[in-house]
Amino acid sequence: MTATLSLTKQAGNDADGRIHCEGLVRIYKTSEIEVLALQGLDFHVEPGELITVVGASGSGKSTLLNVLGGLDQPTAGVVRVGGHDLMTMNAVQRNAYRRDTVGFVWQQTAKNLQPYLDARSNVEFPLAIAGHPRRARRVRSEQLLEIVGLLDRAKHRPAELSGGEQQRVAIAVALANEPRILLADEPTGELDTATAIEVFDVLRAVNAELGVTGVVVTHDPLVSQQVDRTVAIRDGRISSEIVREGAGLDATRVIAREYAVLDSAGRLQLPERYVEALDLTRRVRLELESDHIGVWPEFEHEESRWERPEAHGFGEDR
Ligand code: ADP
Ligand code: MG
Repeated sequence: MTATLSLTKQAGNDADGRIHCEGLVRIYKTSEIEVLALQGLDFHVEPGELITVVGASGSGKSTLLNVLGGLDQPTAGVVRVGGHDLMTMNAVQRNAYRRDTVGFVWQQTAKNLQPYLDARSNVEFPLAIAGHPRRARRVRSEQLLEIVGLLDRAKHRPAELSGGEQQRVAIAVALANEPRILLADEPTGELDTATAIEVFDVLRAVNAELGVTGVVVTHDPLVSQQVDRTVAIRDGRISSEIVREGAGLDATRVIAREYAVLDSAGRLQLPERYVEALDLTRRVRLELESDHIGVWPEFEHEESRWERPEAHGFGEDR
């Protein structure tokens, strides 16, 4: 019986592909300084969703992915992935989690593949470690190479494949043990845009065909636009989300809306350009209306209003 290697769309078990982070903090301590890589980050991904993560260099994207991948332990907060609590996991559970629950694709093509093995053996390598019999390994590797469009390159070693092809093999390797979640840290960062889109099409295909939850960090705006939801990280927090309607594989017309993200404590980060446009500084004035909240710069002549709470909407029953 090779039932564990069936290549079917994962349905039903909803908890399996879900990602839930709340107030995630990761502090790196070096001898001299402390770096706050994640500063209370809230992050949710639904089972079967494919999202992209964008943000300036140093904003915490890789730290987030390493935490989700079980490669790094957060300093504080809640992180649950595929039904596992990553804060309380012991070393043995963590190893099993890395092998079975998540698949990882790195930016550096060389980091993803064994150079001396051909494409097929690369895909079969994690299956061998997990103890699957030879025939089952062969069936699974051929199915995966077909999905990533490289069955005809099965006997090529990484050096005999293009950068884009290597990343497609890397996706097949990451999916070998049927993880519910696929994490990719700038998987197209070393590729030109045309090739990057090809690789991203493969990520979308495995998401659609296998139902794998996907979180993909990318620099390339053309790549990040290909999904229904993009989250932007700034200073170790999610600062905004772009939600698109109709960004499927055959997208013709996409409607995109940008949202600010409200965290569990009700905090909101205003986009930098809004802050600059109105020259907002330390305090802003808020006013609750029936269907929206107004935000105004604090003007000096308005200070008298702050002495009369009822004048600016706080504490009023409307
Ligand atoms: P990104 O992937 O968005 O470029 P990272 O998650 O790699 O950002 O880094 C976030 C911040 O944490 C940066 O300021 C970075 O210098 C710091 N950082 C990352 N890894 C380490 C580490 N191992 N030791 C110390 N500081 C680190
Ligand atoms: Mg990074």
